[in-house]
Amino acid sequence: MIVPHFINGTELTSHSDSAPSTGPVFNPATGAEIRRVAFADSKTLEHALDVAEAALPGWRATGMAKRAQVMFNLREIIVSRSAELAAVISEEHGKVLSDALGEITRGLENVEFCAGVVHHMKGEHLEQAASGIDVHQTRQPVGVVACITPFNFPAMVPLWMISTAIAAGNTVILKPSEKDPSAANWIAKAFKEAGLPDGVLNVVHGDKQAVDHILSSTRIKAVSFVGSTPVASAIYSTASAHGKRVQALGGAKNHMVVMPDADIDAAADAAVSAGYGSAGERCMAISVVVAVGAIADELVEKITERTKNLTVGRYDDPAAEMGPVITKESLDRIATFVAEAPQHGAEVIVDGREWDFSHLPGEGYFIGPSVIDHVRPGMPCYDEEIFGPVLCIVRVDSYDEAVEMINANKFANGTAIFTRDGRTAREFEFAIEVGMVGINVPIPVPIGAFSFGGWKNSLFGDTHMYGPESFNFYTRRKVVTSRWPLPDESQINLGFPTN
Ligand code: NAD
Repeated sequence: MIVPHFINGTELTSHSDSAPSTGPVFNPATGAEIRRVAFADSKTLEHALDVAEAALPGWRATGMAKRAQVMFNLREIIVSRSAELAAVISEEHGKVLSDALGEITRGLENVEFCAGVVHHMKGEHLEQAASGIDVHQTRQPVGVVACITPFNFPAMVPLWMISTAIAAGNTVILKPSEKDPSAANWIAKAFKEAGLPDGVLNVVHGDKQAVDHILSSTRIKAVSFVGSTPVASAIYSTASAHGKRVQALGGAKNHMVVMPDADIDAAADAAVSAGYGSAGERCMAISVVVAVGAIADELVEKITERTKNLTVGRYDDPAAEMGPVITKESLDRIATFVAEAPQHGAEVIVDGREWDFSHLPGEGYFIGPSVIDHVRPGMPCYDEEIFGPVLCIVRVDSYDEAVEMINANKFANGTAIFTRDGRTAREFEFAIEVGMVGINVPIPVPIGAFSFGGWKNSLFGDTHMYGPESFNFYTRRKVVTSRWPLPDESQINLGFPTN
């Protein structure tokens, strides 16, 4: 079976006469190739662009109430069939079903926000800006936009992007990750069922070749991207060089500072939950625990004990707390970070490579959770994004040392501090150079009424994703100055207009 594109409300594997090239889609829990996904050639991409351009005038002219209704309907469809969507996500991604349901809920937050489109698209009006002159500002869609999404949230990240783009009156080309492409098709069909006209949302599958076509096309006016930092950086430069509006969210290395006054049990629970949930394949996963002062030994002991008790298994095993990682390459990469850590002076105190998965059928991409202690900046396991179930522990003497280290890091997506002292928390919030901050909250993904985004190498561009900033990204503001003079009020005046 080939996962098809979804263009103009119809599934197709190619718009060319030739058979499509395809890529493999694996079930990470067994390592088996379960289907293939069509890769769009340029003819198919141009067809999708024709369709999206043709749908734009009609969708742009569609009333806000109708757009809101589509969002309400979509929400009902996804809520009532969330188990079905979760199974689609988990089979190709590997995350446990409860986690897939969590991803759907967080994606729905933005659909709910977009149901308030009548409010978010409202402009401003100033009566009597000058004598007899009124000024108002409207928001208009930017046109055909492209959304390019990563493997780790195959439903949530598309819902973050496309719901806002569509509510704002744009038409969309969605290019999901080729590693787990089916959730995007499921969502596109749900949008159609919710009443979205054909051609407004088009799913086009592919890899770098498809992305390169998108980036250079003058028909696409804006690009939203989420993925790894090297690709995000390249997308930002190339798409902006082609005159597009771009937001490109990249990788992360999220630190969790544990102060000596923190509740150590709560901090250990949080570190383990946020470090290993979704096998550490979350851009907001905690990957570095920064133990401040004398609590380090106790904290490491509690983290170790909890880590060893985790249950790793298939996504459909209700007892499993985390599943496999996405690919064999990813598995090998993660294992190498753990294997080489001692050479760089760190100490592996829980080794995920030693976990026993021999009872599981197939050759899934399983690795257990690891804890690496005595990590320092300059070691590969600290400097690079591992994107797997590995917690690095850095021991520091003081709060100042912790802040200095985090602020020196090239990534700045999320961070957290665990403390019982309000003043320390407030100082941290003020001083830390990171886009999203948690205070006794390890994964501070903002709720849908705020926007999501990191700083530095975690986001290239000016606007954050979903929520209010997203409506800025997907609209252009137009300011209208109007005057209705009486016939005898007209005169020639070559001076620059003032009041
Ligand atoms: P990725 O960069 O490999 O792929 C992301 C998308 O880009 C996919 O659609 C892929 O097909 C495409 N792509 C891959 N290589 C490309 C290339 N050379 N040129 C053009 N397009 C290319 O990322 P991934 O492995 O799918 O996702 C994991 C990464 O995403 C991690 O680094 C993670 O931190 C990051 N991420 C960040 C956020 C955030 O909000 N900052 C959220 C989720 C994931």
